[in-house]
Amino acid sequence: MMAMCSKKAYLKRRNGDNKYDVDTNIFQVKFDCLKENIVKIHQGDPIMCQQCETVLNKYSKIEDDVQNQQFGKQVWICEFCNTKNQIQIEKEEIPKNEDTIYLIQSAQEMQIQIENGDNSVVFCIDTSGSMSSTVEIKGKVNFKHGISAEEYEMLKQFIEPGDEHQIWPQFNTKHVTHVSRKQCVMAAIEQQIGELKKKNPNKIVGLVTFNNEVVVYGDGSEVPITIAGDRLFKQDEIENLLNGTAKQLMKHPIKEQAETLMKKFEKLQEKGQTALGPALISALQLAKVGKPGSMIIICTDGLANLGLGSLDNDANKQFYEDLGVFASQCGVVISVVTIKGEGCKVDILGSLSEKTNGTVTRVKPEDIEKDFANILKDELVGTQVQLFVNLHHALKFRGEDDPNIGNKLKREIGNATIATTQTFEYQVKNDQELQKEQIDIKDLKTVPFQIKVQYTNLHGDRLMRVVTQQVSTTENVQEAEEEAEVEVIHKRMAQKTAQIAKKGNYQEAQTYNTQWDGYVQRNANINNNQLNQQKNYNFQQHNLKLQTAVQRQEIRKDRLSQPLTNPQYQPQSNFPNFLKTDINLQQPPPPPIFQQQYCQMPLFNHSFGAKLPQQEQHQQQLIKELKQQEEKQVQIQELKQQEEKQVQIQELKQQEEKQVQLQELKQEEKQIQIQELKQEKNQSFSDDEDEEMADLFQFEQGKY
Ligand SMILES: [Zn+2]
Repeated sequence: MMAMCSKKAYLKRRNGDNKYDVDTNIFQVKFDCLKENIVKIHQGDPIMCQQCETVLNKYSKIEDDVQNQQFGKQVWICEFCNTKNQIQIEKEEIPKNEDTIYLIQSAQEMQIQIENGDNSVVFCIDTSGSMSSTVEIKGKVNFKHGISAEEYEMLKQFIEPGDEHQIWPQFNTKHVTHVSRKQCVMAAIEQQIGELKKKNPNKIVGLVTFNNEVVVYGDGSEVPITIAGDRLFKQDEIENLLNGTAKQLMKHPIKEQAETLMKKFEKLQEKGQTALGPALISALQLAKVGKPGSMIIICTDGLANLGLGSLDNDANKQFYEDLGVFASQCGVVISVVTIKGEGCKVDILGSLSEKTNGTVTRVKPEDIEKDFANILKDELVGTQVQLFVNLHHALKFRGEDDPNIGNKLKREIGNATIATTQTFEYQVKNDQELQKEQIDIKDLKTVPFQIKVQYTNLHGDRLMRVVTQQVSTTENVQEAEEEAEVEVIHKRMAQKTAQIAKKGNYQEAQTYNTQWDGYVQRNANINNNQLNQQKNYNFQQHNLKLQTAVQRQEIRKDRLSQPLTNPQYQPQSNFPNFLKTDINLQQPPPPPIFQQQYCQMPLFNHSFGAKLPQQEQHQQQLIKELKQQEEKQVQIQELKQQEEKQVQIQELKQQEEKQVQLQELKQEEKQIQIQELKQEKNQSFSDDEDEEMADLFQFEQGKY
């Protein structure tokens, strides 16, 4: 559950703190083990330190309270914060394992009754007009769901000679097939229904479709409910309408309903607008009558533009966040599958998945099938999950939003799936802090770590899982690095980079990523075994994707905010000349942040993107200076490395060669991307922007 990057905690003495330092002091927490059936619940309640709320554990030292002559009472000096706790505990209640499970409240006690049977899946499918757009797929593909004869008759009159293949499958040649987005989605759903029928025959599968209106089919056994007109704007009405009927609509398992449901799909016609918001409210009503772990898969190819949650403007962001929170409380996971082609504001829709720990993807129509399969595999293991992490009081967290967070933190996870991962960095407190707390790190041969996970399992029991590990320490960085599990570093750097970027701090995200990338790829201790080398090499592919996403978002942000970020170059207004002089005098120098951020960006090239000529000149000057600084820094770095690691020069050389090759490859790819960006600069870029946002969401969740 808790995995350390290194078996040794590196205690690096320091005067001050760097926000982003690089070393192997990282660990990750995964939640997949919450899925296991609980075999043994620990007898008795957890005993917590009155000061730091650490739970008494296998490493706690308990002594009889001789001093106070208290018969039957003991003293526990907390191994995390040194607080003396008077306790009373039976010997058999002292945990014997690192991993302990406590029952906080059983489902029975809370009078929660979760019916037997499976959880449900609700497909929430876009049938707006844009779903009829076709894509070319190489080779001949036989799609069962073409357009109906009725549809063909209707469309015939609009067909330009030569365009027949776009609408009528017979015109597809041996080399290329034209299929509509709707056909791809239907083929994928059919595939999944087939799989579910085989593997989870008791699962209840529901369908909701949306265009100008929302049609709630449920499991297909009842007459569907249509929501249209004014109702699309009234959340209460939709909820009330479905509240009474949802159970009826989601009653029959897929083993009975598969064929009926597929027939409903076949009749769907794509037309009109995109009432996604009201459809989502409806889908949630259906999913929440299922067991915790029920799932909604939204599949859309365009911008929600009708009814509640219309995304024509950003004001409706809150609507999706609120629905996400509500779904999470119900134990419903929402995944968003967006089809490439048109922009659909993934940054906003993504919050649904973020709040419920679902997945956000942007896929080609022909890849939807694979995507659905992956989403259905990522099952829920616990709801209302809260994670608490305690570090020894000589340590503190690094790289958290709150710089004063110290050695204790809590994260609200909400839903946890088997893929959910959280990562942490820590470091030893600085000299002044240690002195203040009278800690001598020489005395620290080991340091304990503890996580507490409070969660509700899928049966409705509230549990707490406590994992405590004891890790030996070292002041020798080599010792810590040689033991490193690079995958933990990869997870951390991907997650943190995406987190920083999603706040809009793209330059900071790039700096962070570059720093860590350099560390894992070039550090000789980490790379002294082939396995790590290989893993690092493989991760480069993922990281390149992440770097590209961040970089492109940065260019967009630059482009949008250019006149604002650089007041010096704002076009001069129509002020009379005498006033202009005054204004020029009053013009402030470029903001220090601007300069500073540029200086922190050694590896990224800022000379691309659409820029005004003066800006370009100025930036090129900056870049020139930067490059000189960079070269100097590289020289210093190399000298230092040579001094420190004479013995390993041979190894380093080999790695450097590899690195150069990789760097060249990267540069080449970057150049191509820059070219592409330049070409698209006059076009709408929301399609790619959505893709990059989807990437960021995935990296943040550790799903890459
Ligand atoms: Zn304590």
